[in-house]
Amino acid sequence: MAPKIRPQVIAIEEHYLDPEVLEKTGGRAGGTPRARERLADLGEVRLKEMDEAGVDIQVLSHCPPGAQAFDAETAAAQARGVNDRLHETVRARPDRFAAFATLPLKDPAGSAAELERCVDKLGFKGAMVHGLTDGLFIDDQRYWPIFERAEALDVPIYVHPGPPHPQVIDIYYKDYAEKYPPILNAGLGFTLEMAAAGVRLVLSGVFDKHPRLKIILGHLGEGLPFLLWRIDSTFADASRGKFTPANFRGLFCEHFYVTTSGFFSDPALLCTMWELGVDRILFAIDWPYVDNAPGTAWMDTVSLSREDREKILNGNAKRLLKM
Ligand code: ZN
Repeated sequence: MAPKIRPQVIAIEEHYLDPEVLEKTGGRAGGTPRARERLADLGEVRLKEMDEAGVDIQVLSHCPPGAQAFDAETAAAQARGVNDRLHETVRARPDRFAAFATLPLKDPAGSAAELERCVDKLGFKGAMVHGLTDGLFIDDQRYWPIFERAEALDVPIYVHPGPPHPQVIDIYYKDYAEKYPPILNAGLGFTLEMAAAGVRLVLSGVFDKHPRLKIILGHLGEGLPFLLWRIDSTFADASRGKFTPANFRGLFCEHFYVTTSGFFSDPALLCTMWELGVDRILFAIDWPYVDNAPGTAWMDTVSLSREDREKILNGNAKRLLKM
């Protein structure tokens, strides 16, 4: 392990893959064979790559689709199995791992109950949900029992990308997808869909109903910090008529946290700090889709005070996730 020259590093968007989810997706979950191999490893390879780059703790989350793959009738029971297996991993190495729950979203009531079980009984730090479920965004009111429970438990919900809707792929991306596959995912598709998810959450009114609800977005907020002024001013103008909310920017800054997953850019970080403040930014890599070393190396050189660097690398995670 390299000599420690940086504060403790907690990375909070680090994925793995459960065998039962892999089976349910016909072996497709996880992406490329290289990614799938790493996702399945919860020991030697993962810890070696963490050590080489100086990542002390991974907060583990299932890669898309997680327990959202399971059918409504059996989803709750299957999600319990997935989360119990993840708990075993964390229990074996509590010095290196913590966990976000995966939720059986096709059973919203079951999801709320599973979130509570995972937090209360298994010590999980919140939950991660992925993209669309049966074509629905997470702001749909059928999922609000999950937000109600998250607020009551005082844990965040991490809203993470999944594959874009087939109709969106058809209209927006298919002309370029064969030659440039990343347009479907981290190249653009993930970002636009998650920016829409973030805007929709604010417009849904869920934060009026649940004023202490906390949402995490990856990838430095999926473009939204950069767009906040324009979105806010547009809705503020509209609110002179019949539209709400008048305070989009305030609601976003009050309820959202963002992570550095797969986005190691000084200008993007600076913009995010200006809009949200350093206390809202948490370190993440997005392993294994992104290698660890470029993330920790970036943090070593990024132009931040020692205090701010430490907040991003571990302090904010310790506070938000009660670690
Ligand atoms: Zn990710």
